[in-house]
Amino acid sequence: GYRKGGYHAARPGDRFAGGRFVAQRKLGWGNFSTVWLAYDTLLNRFVALKIQKSARDYAQAALHEIELLSAIAKGDPTNSKNVVRLLDHFKHAGPNGQHVCLVTEFLGDSLLRLIRYNRNKGIGLSRVKEICRSVLVGLDYLHRELGIIHTDLKPENVLLVSTINPSKDPVRSGFTPILERTVTNQYSGSVISFSEKMLKMRARRAVAKISQRRVSLGGVAAEMEKDRSLDGVNLKCKIVDFGNACWGSQQLAGEIQTRQYRAPEVIIGAGYSYSADMWSFACMAFELATGEVLFAPKTCQGCSEDEDHLALMMETLGKMPKKIASSGTRSKDYFDRHGDLKRIRRLKFWPLERLLVQRYNFTEPDAQGLADFLRPILDFTPENRPTAADCLKNPWLN
Ligand code: ATP
Ligand code: MG
Ligand code: MG
Repeated sequence: GYRKGGYHAARPGDRFAGGRFVAQRKLGWGNFSTVWLAYDTLLNRFVALKIQKSARDYAQAALHEIELLSAIAKGDPTNSKNVVRLLDHFKHAGPNGQHVCLVTEFLGDSLLRLIRYNRNKGIGLSRVKEICRSVLVGLDYLHRELGIIHTDLKPENVLLVSTINPSKDPVRSGFTPILERTVTNQYSGSVISFSEKMLKMRARRAVAKISQRRVSLGGVAAEMEKDRSLDGVNLKCKIVDFGNACWGSQQLAGEIQTRQYRAPEVIIGAGYSYSADMWSFACMAFELATGEVLFAPKTCQGCSEDEDHLALMMETLGKMPKKIASSGTRSKDYFDRHGDLKRIRRLKFWPLERLLVQRYNFTEPDAQGLADFLRPILDFTPENRPTAADCLKNPWLN
């Protein structure tokens, strides 16, 4: 982590970009970066500051992300396509090296947190539909208008959007950002520096205040915990983390996506396109509705995680067409010449709709509605899957 080439250790009150952005509190982190809530002293608003690790490969990845996010922002001047907005970027020199920094709009909790807050029970179908609509608008924009494949769509990478934004007027909203690590006594002229503990305490209190105002949407999640109705709250969300995204015309990595959301064509090495994002989208929608991951493969006795994954898919979705099963560079490792898995011979078929009724206690009509929406997106043949635009026309969403 925090060593040469690694993360930059920021503290509340630290200034960036010649003093314009002031770090407030760490919001999250990933393999590539730490992300901070920061205050933009030029435009008086809160922003998210992604501070990339400094080693060359990480810097390269950040520059790639900036390239994609710039195209995304340029094509969406009104910021209405449900993809995170890049506001600025710069380099920051720290003890561990040069860090590429991305400034984006400040968003709320991830869908993963929303699912967890709801104690893995699913968030209710009307909310699932709202979120699906939001994500599909984003995907349609990325795929059809820009030619970008996200390649890592999952609940962690979709963040809720605040309905109230105190950043417009932080003073009236009762929130004073941390601006300095030190204060000068105006009478004596002596400089007092805040203790680390005190700065952290202030930052915590500040974020709690924002949460109450639902900016972090911790507020929404907390209300859901108390079983209060969210009917009045319009759930909207945005797609983030374009660190692995690529142009549809130049796919780089062979292995994309996070395991549970990985499409079958990626597993067998048959190439991929925009439709791989649609597969992940369907997995995510199922998870929102049930609170559980659709496919959670494990390595088993004598078989790999990949093989278990393919078996799980077939148990839920039926046998993979032979033509597809044999179309990848790794097909021969997993399938025999009849198109059956070599090492997992007995499959227990449990179709989607039955799964929803028997395991997740959905009513028949609810199960049928959701299954009818998801099944075409989970088609083994990538070309058969509906596009995001097709899905948006589905009456189930409207
Ligand atoms: P990964 O290892 O997944 O590639 P990463 O280093 O590329 O991660 P991100 O996924 O972009 O980093 O961000 C890490 C976390 O920071 C997110 O999961 C989220 O919790 C938080 N975060 C990122 N962007 C924002 C934002 N705009 N507003 C609020 N929180 C954010
Ligand atoms: Mg991420
Ligand atoms: Mg990333």
